[in-house]
Amino acid sequence: MNLLQLTPQYHERVWGGQRLRPAQPPIGEAWLVYEGNIVTNGPFAGQTLAAVTAQHSEALLGKKAMAQTGLRFPLLIKLLDAADWLSVQVHPNDAQAIRLEGTGQIGKTEAWHVLQTEPNARLIAGVKTGTTQAQLAAAIRDGSILDWVQFHDVMAGDTIFMPAGNIHAIGPGMLIYEVQQTSDITYRVFDWNRPTTTGRKLHIEQSVAVSDPNGTGDLRHSPAMHSTDQAELMQCAYFGLDLITSQAEMLQLNTQQFSFHAITIIEGCAKITCADEKITLNRFETVIVPADAGEYALNPIQPFRALISRMSL
Ligand SMILES: [Zn+2]
Repeated sequence: MNLLQLTPQYHERVWGGQRLRPAQPPIGEAWLVYEGNIVTNGPFAGQTLAAVTAQHSEALLGKKAMAQTGLRFPLLIKLLDAADWLSVQVHPNDAQAIRLEGTGQIGKTEAWHVLQTEPNARLIAGVKTGTTQAQLAAAIRDGSILDWVQFHDVMAGDTIFMPAGNIHAIGPGMLIYEVQQTSDITYRVFDWNRPTTTGRKLHIEQSVAVSDPNGTGDLRHSPAMHSTDQAELMQCAYFGLDLITSQAEMLQLNTQQFSFHAITIIEGCAKITCADEKITLNRFETVIVPADAGEYALNPIQPFRALISRMSL
């Protein structure tokens, strides 16, 4: 089947910034790959990603994704632009999602790749080593969670892996690429004492039920890259994330018929060629290469860097 381009969905957020799209109230999230997004090109133009996935699941997703999420697109990919702290939050794993929210629900494991930061940018990933379940539960209930969490200094190029159960928050000044299981379930642990009138309620008991005292954060710095190169940034049971870059040469890639590749340009500009299709991708634009595509190529129009989200091997 053909390459898929999607219309991003932009979402206002109290903590949002002006880098994704200048607006007031500010935009915090651009949903690049989401089941509700509309396909803009080719024979499926006008249909949602959910509809195309349901009709052509094996060709689009590959067998591994079908085994995990059936006829649903398994990943949600966003850009986040934070001018302020996001809520301190936690997500359930698959079993907890079913127990707490009902059958058919899935958990949320996620990973972040930092695109831009301001100097001294920090985020929260996990809790301090040695924190006990009882200490964590008490801190969530009495609002003192900031005394227990792990703050990390971050730079552009860092990758943070956030398994379900890890308490986390993105800090001000950061522009982040996020890939996650396609789940809506977020439990807000602490919201920086912002007014609750915005409908941003806390979920104290759910947070206590799923927060993992052994989740202490997993931050990796950018790997050293050649001028034309591909590197795996992280891989977990639900997805893998690769970084590719090229200054001038063509980069040849292959889905191996195993998984779709969701490619997002994060710097520069490239042309993707797959069979007789050619699409130019600018910064922050995304294309989904279906699992059945096999070999395809990326040619730099300008030197580029791109992220590829896919199912894990
Ligand atoms: Zn999250």
